[in-house]
Amino acid sequence: VRRATAPLTEVLRLPTGEVESLRLANGELIAGELFLDCSGSDSLLMRQIGAVERDDWSAWLPCDRMISARAPLIADFPPFTRTVATDAGWAWRLPLARASVAGYVYSSAFTTDEAALRYLQSAVPGVEAPGRAVSLSAGRRRRFWEKNCVALGASAMQLEPLAGADLHFAQLGLGTLIELFPLDVTGAIEGAEYNRVMTDHADALAISPSRTIAPVARAPVPSGRRRAPCRHRSAWPTGWTCSRPTRAST
Ligand SMILES: Cc1cc2nc3c(=O)[nH]c(=O)nc-3n(C[C@H](O)[C@H](O)[C@H](O)COP(=O)(O)OP(=O)(O)OC[C@H]3O[C@@H](n4cnc5c(N)ncnc54)[C@H](O)[C@@H]3O)c2cc1C
Repeated sequence: VRRATAPLTEVLRLPTGEVESLRLANGELIAGELFLDCSGSDSLLMRQIGAVERDDWSAWLPCDRMISARAPLIADFPPFTRTVATDAGWAWRLPLARASVAGYVYSSAFTTDEAALRYLQSAVPGVEAPGRAVSLSAGRRRRFWEKNCVALGASAMQLEPLAGADLHFAQLGLGTLIELFPLDVTGAIEGAEYNRVMTDHADALAISPSRTIAPVARAPVPSGRRRAPCRHRSAWPTGWTCSRPTRAST
């Protein structure tokens, strides 16, 4: 294994569309037969080879913005992350040994970045100023393995972090790739099987957050479902409500 740490500046392709080599900012050219796209949601390699088709899950997982920041230590802290629903999304407080982390994932259809920041500051006194809000786009690519490129992790699928399943998905991608490592340069058969297996994994993971909690109370409900109101009590923040989508009774 040789580690090259310079940023990627150019993707060179063969006439048939496969990636031939990667040019780094330090001028180094890295050639290969199989490339893994681990560039996160930027999907730098997959985008270059035109593998852009996605399944959009935003109708079921409408949160598309996130802020998070370090917050004060929680005295007598619980051994778990506390997550609460809000009108526009959900917020969490994660206890650490010497501090905590607070964050807010929300839908830009129902609140603004400024209002989300005000909410976090009022819910968590002493929270530090968060960095810029991050965009999320729930969905997965239609093909994870295209030509001689395999998308792994956030380059392959994006879920809001409520499920906490992203690293598991990245691990599944790696494990499946090792099992199906191609016997020749085309990798046609292995690629088709990889796409089948990973599609099943991605869709199964996507179902879990949308089934367990969909806290955006005002979001449109996908057809075939209705919203059953439920009220929770919590010490932080008080008086919030959330809705859990259930199957239509008729
Ligand atoms: C607040 C929060 C909480 C989370 N909690 C959980 C959790 O509990 N469990 C869980 O499983 N997941 C969780 N996640 C999600 C998890 O962090 C991501 O799914 C994971 O980091 C994705 O890894 P990745 O390697 O695919 O992409 P990334 O971590 O986004 O890595 C992409 C890398 O590509 C590099 N890159 C981009 N462009 C270039 C370029 N031009 N040249 C060179 N390098 C480049 C970037 O620098 C970066 O290092 C959480 C995420 C957040 C934000």
